[in-house]
Amino acid sequence: MAQNVESGQREDAVHTGPGSPSSASRADLHLHTTHSDGALTPYELVKKANEAGLAAIAITDHDNVGALDEAMEWGRSLGVEVVPGLELSVALGEKDVHILAYFFDHRHQTLLEYLAFFRRESLKRAERIVEKLKRINVRISMESVLEQAGIGSVGRPHIANALLDGGMIDSYHEAFEKYIGTGGPAFEKKYQVDPEEAFKLVNSAGGLSFLAHPGKYTTELELSQLIKLGLDGIEVVHPSHDERRQEYYRSVVNQYFLLESGGSDFHGGKKNDDQALGVFTIPMHIVETMRSRLFS
Ligand code: AMP
Ligand code: FE
Ligand code: FE
Ligand code: ZN
Repeated sequence: MAQNVESGQREDAVHTGPGSPSSASRADLHLHTTHSDGALTPYELVKKANEAGLAAIAITDHDNVGALDEAMEWGRSLGVEVVPGLELSVALGEKDVHILAYFFDHRHQTLLEYLAFFRRESLKRAERIVEKLKRINVRISMESVLEQAGIGSVGRPHIANALLDGGMIDSYHEAFEKYIGTGGPAFEKKYQVDPEEAFKLVNSAGGLSFLAHPGKYTTELELSQLIKLGLDGIEVVHPSHDERRQEYYRSVVNQYFLLESGGSDFHGGKKNDDQALGVFTIPMHIVETMRSRLFS
């Protein structure tokens, strides 16, 4: 990555907030809308990104590309480039690892079929979780969960919100700590594909695959496995990565000739992460490097 050696300052320092001189040439490639577990509609998100001074964004809803057409249209009228994005869950051993896909054809038939299948599986899983909660006398209705999900693909965050609104818990995190987190009494595994299958799928739709927020839970061994299986890049900039983590992932990117990406993982609403928007960004030249890796 480019580094200004003389001053010791990074060209791509993370904390370039709204209104800073270079914010107009920056991008946030990890955002969620109401089409998954985000609180903002595609329009609201593009508008907010524009107000934060971002030149480009990627909407990366879980298992869902429903926001993209509308977001791209608003992006064109507001002057924000909207890169097609997606966040998929893959199985790595016992772990649930998130893969970000970019620049694919979001109308690709096989991809859409996969996504519809994942969403049906997520619905069945939510039903199993609600059933498990019932067995330990924590009663929420499937309707209240679906209400939280709205048009979006249903996941544990919606169950957490339903528990919170139902007064069963005092905070969003409590839902995971007490009930639905890994190993919790109402935990249910998510349906996941193999990483290789996910990479092939993204590749066949003309896109690139990135490992999302590796700092959260990916070991070095797992990272090297994913690289061998065909990973194109790593999400270097993410709220869960401090400067040292970023440096580390950048060195891995360089060592294996991978690409880098980054973003805020902004969800809005009850997640209270409004301050992240416009802060966890990457310079536009990184987006151009990604684009240049695509087959035309
Ligand atoms: P799902 O894909 O349905 O398993 O939900 C995963 C999402 O739940 C993650 O992207 C997080 O937003 C949220 N999540 C998972 N574990 C926790 C946790 N311990 N505390 C808070 N949120 C969590
Ligand atoms: Fe999420
Ligand atoms: Fe994620
Ligand atoms: Zn995400």
